[in-house]
Amino acid sequence: MSSNSVDTMSPTEVVIVGLGPTGATLANILGGYGINVLVLEREESIYPLPRAVHFDDEAMRVFQSVGLAGQIDPKVRVNCGTRFVDKNQDLLLDWPRPQDIGPLGWYPSYRFHQPDLEADLNDGLARQDSVTVLRGCTVTDIVQDNDGAIISWKQNGKPSQVRADFVVGADGARSVVRHSFDCDWEDLGFKERWLVVDVQLTADRSDLGDFTIQTCDRARPTTYVRCPREWRRWEISLHDHERDEDVVGDDFIWPHMRPSITPDEGRIVRRAVYNFESKLSDKWRDRRCFIAGDAAHLMPPFLGQGMCAGVRDVANLGWKLAAVLRWNAPDALLDTYERERRPHTRVYIETAVNVGRMMNNAETAETLTHAINPDGSAQMKSISRGLAHAMGPADGHLAGARMPQPVLADGRRLSDAMAGRFAVIAGRDALADHADHLPDDASAIILDADAHEALADLLEIQGVSALAIRPDFYCYGGVQGGDAAAIAPFFSDLRAQISSTA
Ligand SMILES: Cc1cc2nc3c(=O)[nH]c(=O)nc-3n(C[C@H](O)[C@H](O)[C@H](O)COP(=O)(O)OP(=O)(O)OC[C@H]3O[C@@H](n4cnc5c(N)ncnc54)[C@H](O)[C@@H]3O)c2cc1C
Repeated sequence: MSSNSVDTMSPTEVVIVGLGPTGATLANILGGYGINVLVLEREESIYPLPRAVHFDDEAMRVFQSVGLAGQIDPKVRVNCGTRFVDKNQDLLLDWPRPQDIGPLGWYPSYRFHQPDLEADLNDGLARQDSVTVLRGCTVTDIVQDNDGAIISWKQNGKPSQVRADFVVGADGARSVVRHSFDCDWEDLGFKERWLVVDVQLTADRSDLGDFTIQTCDRARPTTYVRCPREWRRWEISLHDHERDEDVVGDDFIWPHMRPSITPDEGRIVRRAVYNFESKLSDKWRDRRCFIAGDAAHLMPPFLGQGMCAGVRDVANLGWKLAAVLRWNAPDALLDTYERERRPHTRVYIETAVNVGRMMNNAETAETLTHAINPDGSAQMKSISRGLAHAMGPADGHLAGARMPQPVLADGRRLSDAMAGRFAVIAGRDALADHADHLPDDASAIILDADAHEALADLLEIQGVSALAIRPDFYCYGGVQGGDAAAIAPFFSDLRAQISSTA
């Protein structure tokens, strides 16, 4: 073989480009269905320093669904909230986060060390027989036809290619997959330069406390984040005239750390200037190719939601790919990925931008409180929204609502029992009467609400006699009240949308 020849690998079902948190989560999800996956990652190893520092209960529930929450949980910290202070570090507003496990079965907000999380996600992949990870591979080209795509890459200068049924670009902001299809960024208008400084404490600074500290100083907003173990993060806003090469120097950094810290108390391990932007790709699918995570959207990190949005993307796309590849679902199901995820992500981007503007402009308790909640109450609310344009039953009842995680009578938590499938919940008689219309065991677990008190409660709270929860834990829909005649078509519709009815 000449050195210019192209190695061609055996065809695979899904190629994932990029093994950041988005790609690694998707590979774990698809591996759980036994789908043949090839992951191509440019870097030789996990990046050893943090970028994201926060994730939420929804992300943790996805990690639970791929069997990794048990190993991730001991390494994270429950986030206790944010203290907004003025430039003298005097308290303006306290925003504690709930310290109780919420309806999704996890704490609402966690602090984490990204290299730990990525190592855990990679551990998960090492246990998946159907997933192959190739590092040191830079994807250069994707060519589609009606049935799939040819993905080309270079490893140490050597060209290779593979054919796949589907390609998912989880390859970050400069996604080569996004560039391979005809689409544009929609710019939502936020652009700021911030300096991010990661520090490992070398002395006791327990006086800093466990809260995030937001210094509300219009001249120089600054964020301090209490990360796990000895890790701490400072984010310092920059002025236009300040040059990157100057602000990454010690002379600039140490005096600008608020709350303050000295070189005797901590070691700077990373200093990086970021352009925080707010962008949304106008297309997330082109025939056999999809984009997810930062490849599809960029948001400023003020809510700590960029990575979480990527995890939600692949929780959504993962089961739909499995439905098409394993349950013979119609291809149209895959169109619901962009339809559901794009508007949902837009809400998070817009909220992150608003929070950023508020942080950058409020300087007094009054303006801060007002900015947080226009009715004047000092309660800062988080967004927790369902999907606005969700697939579902004909009447759309409950479609896209976020579903809680009840505990079943045998002690299993709902997500564990679902194991990547739908949960169809109804009373014993309704299930028996309409058994012919139910989805099969491969695509759904059928749960008798009469045998599980928590599920009977769930039906009652939602005011429905039957309920279907999707593998990404959003609601497919519910049958309102006692409308017995609606149950059979509800089950049949579900079955037709997620599997072959033949
Ligand atoms: C300062 C800062 C703080 C943040 N804090 C938070 C936070 O607290 N919480 C949160 O949820 N989000 C946060 N974010 C956002 C979060 O970091 C990103 O949204 C997240 O990392 C995106 O993950 P990803 O896997 O989609 O992309 P990336 O992490 O960018 O991963 C993409 C991967 O693709 C690989 N790749 C790229 N091109 C190719 C190619 N051609 N071939 C092969 N491989 C390729 C790259 O090497 C990389 O490994 C923060 C961001 C910043 C900048």
